[in-house]
Amino acid sequence: MNKEAVGKIVTVLGLVEPEAVGPTMMHEHIFIDFWRDKALGFNAPVTDVDLWDQKLTLENLHLARDRKHVKDNYMLTDENRGIKELNYFLNAGGSTVVDVTSIGLGRDPKALQRVSLATGLNIVMGAGWYQKFYHPSDMDTKTVEELTEVIVADVTEGVDGSKVRSGIIGEVGINGAPLTDNEVKSVRASARASRQTGTAISFHNGGTGREKLEVAGIVGEEGADLNRVVFGHSNTNAGDVSLLLELLDLGTYIQFDTLGRVGAPMARYPNAHDTGANRMFQSANDVLVAEAIPQLIEAGFEDRILLSQDVCMKMHLKAYGGTGYSYVMEKFTPYLRYLGVTDAQVDKMLTYNPRRVLTRVAPM
Ligand SMILES: [Zn+2]
Repeated sequence: MNKEAVGKIVTVLGLVEPEAVGPTMMHEHIFIDFWRDKALGFNAPVTDVDLWDQKLTLENLHLARDRKHVKDNYMLTDENRGIKELNYFLNAGGSTVVDVTSIGLGRDPKALQRVSLATGLNIVMGAGWYQKFYHPSDMDTKTVEELTEVIVADVTEGVDGSKVRSGIIGEVGINGAPLTDNEVKSVRASARASRQTGTAISFHNGGTGREKLEVAGIVGEEGADLNRVVFGHSNTNAGDVSLLLELLDLGTYIQFDTLGRVGAPMARYPNAHDTGANRMFQSANDVLVAEAIPQLIEAGFEDRILLSQDVCMKMHLKAYGGTGYSYVMEKFTPYLRYLGVTDAQVDKMLTYNPRRVLTRVAPM
């Protein structure tokens, strides 16, 4: 199915030759509606309720950065602002953005088309389901077959009747600890759709710690190719290079995609998130990631590393004091070069590896 797409990259404006794709951010959000899992309960203190309803401003930005919830922070809906922010990436030499806003997260094919036209950037759109708060209300009774059909339709026919096709399956929200039945269904459906369409899968986490090996096992059980699987948000595992090497040995990609992100977790241990130990303003993980990458290269995996920023809140935008869509190109890759990573290896992480992931392969 979709034979004409094989060997091509599927963007919101149609098929593109892989050679036409340059430096690419593999996990970003241009548009997102991302507040549902943060919504306050009935018993929230009045002060928290007040903050929730405020616009994000300089006065309350420090609270948002400290993970106090401001609803407005979790909505990227302004097209003109998006274009302005993406221009920083364009001016840094960027070519392509993968918008992994998946079903239920405010995915907007027509708006992505307009932004692509306005900026000249290639934009690749996501598919599949994010984490449980964004699942459809009848997810419990949905079958793997039904879920698979939806993803296959999005990548082969188009999203929501728009005829704009998804170019990647993701972000597929799998938090684990433990894996739920619905998460496993979502993994199986993504794997089947990947096998049937030759489209890559991009996981949000893909489980916690060693659960990722279990998730990879489920993808394998469904007959999908692990060379088409990306483990996103791997920054939290940068302190555990041996786990990353186990995942790489299976053929998967390791994606460090919360680089530079204001408000990203500080600790190397994913569960520190729950202890409050990492409730800091600024990620310190970038150094851990930068030091892990030469080790992964040394072990022979320079063809399996991907980089991005995961802009998903207003506070990540430059307009709100964040580092935006251009941090990897402006700050992070120069630091990698300083650590001895070669230009050719940086080119692989920015351009050649994304091309390989995004280029549709023949169905299996
Ligand atoms: Zn994301």
